[in-house]
Amino acid sequence: MGNGLDTYIYRIGDRNYINLTNKCTNDCEFCVRRTEKGVAGYELWMEKEPSAQDIIDLLEKDKTDVVFCGYGEPTIKIDELKEIAAYVKNYGGHTRINTNGHASVYHGRDIAKELVGLIDEVSISLNEADAKKYERVVHSRYGEDGFRYMLNFARDCVKYGIKTTLSVVDVISPEDIETCRRIAEDIGADFRVRHYIA
Ligand code: SF4
Repeated sequence: MGNGLDTYIYRIGDRNYINLTNKCTNDCEFCVRRTEKGVAGYELWMEKEPSAQDIIDLLEKDKTDVVFCGYGEPTIKIDELKEIAAYVKNYGGHTRINTNGHASVYHGRDIAKELVGLIDEVSISLNEADAKKYERVVHSRYGEDGFRYMLNFARDCVKYGIKTTLSVVDVISPEDIETCRRIAEDIGADFRVRHYIA
């Protein structure tokens, strides 16, 4: 669903995935934006990014649980994200963000705090076991500091009582997966190993 040209909402299972922006603070080696036009059969590059009202108008016809996810970093459009999340919470839907965890450093303020009551769940890509390896894979605009900023955001989400999951893909070594598991435990976040799909 979109404006006729762009896909603003795409359906996977029983949830609507919301495509807010194509911009990102990372340039991950594995990002599907490098090789694909979209996911799950949807083209997700946009000519014009949606306003909050564009998305709300679409959700009005299909009031489901939602995931703010790709084709870019959704928290870059934080004002729109919060307005849409408030609308979804108002009709009793569940809200999740799939994020690289750079929201607070990008906006220069504590974004995790602003998500309380609006976002039920945050899934953060941990990717790697330390800052050097992380940077090698994600090519963050913040360099190796991107790793620390991401973990700080995860800590803040946990602190504010938002269900928080750190995730890795099973392309890294078993040793690094265990290190990542410990990092998540130390923070008090859940941990998820996702299976790599070529
Ligand atoms: S953080 Fe996500 S959207 Fe951004 S480059 Fe990496 S995989 Fe792509």
